[in-house]
Amino acid sequence: MTFDLTYAKHMDSIDPLSGFREQFYIPHVNGNTSIYFTGNSLGLQPKTTQDYVLNELEDWANYGVEGHFQARNPWVSYHEIFPEVLAPIVGALPEELVVMNQLTVNLHLLMMSFYRPTKQRFKIICEAKAFPSDQYAFQSQVLHHGLDPKECIIEVSPKPGTAIIDTEDILETIKKHGQETAVVLFSGVNYYSGQVFDMPRICKAAHEQGAYCGFDLAHAAGNISLKLHDWNVDFACWCSYKYLNSGPGGVSGVYIHQKHASNKTMPRLAGWWGHDKEHRFEMGPDFDPIPTAEGWQMSNAPVLSMSAHKASLDIFAEAGMERLASKGKQLSGYMMYILDQINANANQPVFEIITPRNDDERGCQVSMLTLKNGRQLFETLMSSGVIADWREPNVIRVAPVPLYNSFEDVFRFGKIIEHFIQHNQ
Ligand SMILES: *Cc1c(COP(=O)(O)O)cnc(C)c1O
Repeated sequence: MTFDLTYAKHMDSIDPLSGFREQFYIPHVNGNTSIYFTGNSLGLQPKTTQDYVLNELEDWANYGVEGHFQARNPWVSYHEIFPEVLAPIVGALPEELVVMNQLTVNLHLLMMSFYRPTKQRFKIICEAKAFPSDQYAFQSQVLHHGLDPKECIIEVSPKPGTAIIDTEDILETIKKHGQETAVVLFSGVNYYSGQVFDMPRICKAAHEQGAYCGFDLAHAAGNISLKLHDWNVDFACWCSYKYLNSGPGGVSGVYIHQKHASNKTMPRLAGWWGHDKEHRFEMGPDFDPIPTAEGWQMSNAPVLSMSAHKASLDIFAEAGMERLASKGKQLSGYMMYILDQINANANQPVFEIITPRNDDERGCQVSMLTLKNGRQLFETLMSSGVIADWREPNVIRVAPVPLYNSFEDVFRFGKIIEHFIQHNQ
C-alpha cells in the first residue's frame, strides 16, 4: 500500500474551503512556496491585513486624537466589533467576550478573579507539562498569595510511556482533591501532543466539587469546535496569533461566563476601560464595572493590533468554524494515514505518532516522536521547504491548517519523509 497524488488532488478539488488559501501570503523557501505547517505557532498573514492596518494609520494621520470618534471604526469603541465575530468561534455569548492585552497577562487577570485561595480551597489542578508560560503563571499566582506551589499545584500526568493524559485520571484527580481545589485549569488542546481535552466532562467534574473551571485555549481557538457557554466553562483565554492569524504578539481573547461577567461584585483588577462607558470620562473616584466581560478591560484598545485581528476574523466568519474544524481533522487524519504507510514500508518504525487518533481528541496538529535520525529528518524537511517545529528531545510537530493548507501539502510532506527514509535506513 502506498499513498498517491490523485487522492490528494481529488480531496482538494471537492474541498469547499480550498479557495481560502489564495487569501494568504505563504512564505517561500529556496524560491518555492513552502509547505507551511506551523500555523499552530504563528498563523499566516491574510492579504487583506495590510489594508485593515493602513486604514487605521490613515485615520490617525488625518484625525489625530479625533480618530477616537471620527475614524471609520472609531477607536473608542474599536474592541466592540469582536464579541459578535468571536462568539461562533468559541461558542460563547457576545457579552461573555472581550479582546484585550496578551495571553499570559489575561491568564493572570482571570486568575485574580477565579483563583482566590482560602484555608479550605487552595489547589489548582492542571496538566503536567503545561506550556511553560502557564506553569510560571500558576506558580507565581500561588506565591503571590503566600502559598507553596508544591502543595497547591496538582498536575495530572500522561499514562507512562505515552503523551496522552487519560480523561479518567483527570476526573479521578478532581475527585480526590476536590474539596481543597479552587480551580481546575487545563489547556483546551495540549501544545505538545495535540491532545484535545474533554472540556465538558472536566468542567462538570470541577463544578461537582465546587471548584471553578477555566481553559487556556491558545491551541484550541480557531482549531477545534468549542461550546464554552453550553459547557458552563467559567473562564478562558487564548492568543490570536496562532490559528487566528492576527500577527506576532497579537491581542488576546477572553471569555467569562455570563453569570460571572454580569456580576459587578466579582473581584478583579480594574482600569478605566472596564468602567461604565456612560460615565467613563467623568473620571469619578469609584470603579463601576461594565456588566459584561468588557468590565475586565484595563487599558484602552491597541487599535493597530486589533485591526489585524479584525482582518483575520472576517475570513473566519466567511469560512465558518464548523467547516474549518471538520477539515482540520480530515487533514490530520490523512497525515496519520500517510505516516502509518511510511512506517509500515520502512524496515522498522521511524517515528511514533503521539497525537490521539480518536477524532474527538485531536484538531489539525500531529506530533511525531522520532525514533531514529530525528533531528536529521527535521532538517531535511526544513531544507526541502517544509516549515515545521522541533521540540527537544525528539518531537516534530506539524499542523496542516484548514484555512490555507491543502491535502496536496500533506501528500508532498509524506513524499519528502518517504524519500528521506529510503536513503537513510
Ligand atoms: C502560545 C502560548 C502561550 C503564549 O503566551 P503569550 O502571553 O501570548 O506570549 C501561552 N500559553 C499557551 C498554552 C500557549 O500555547
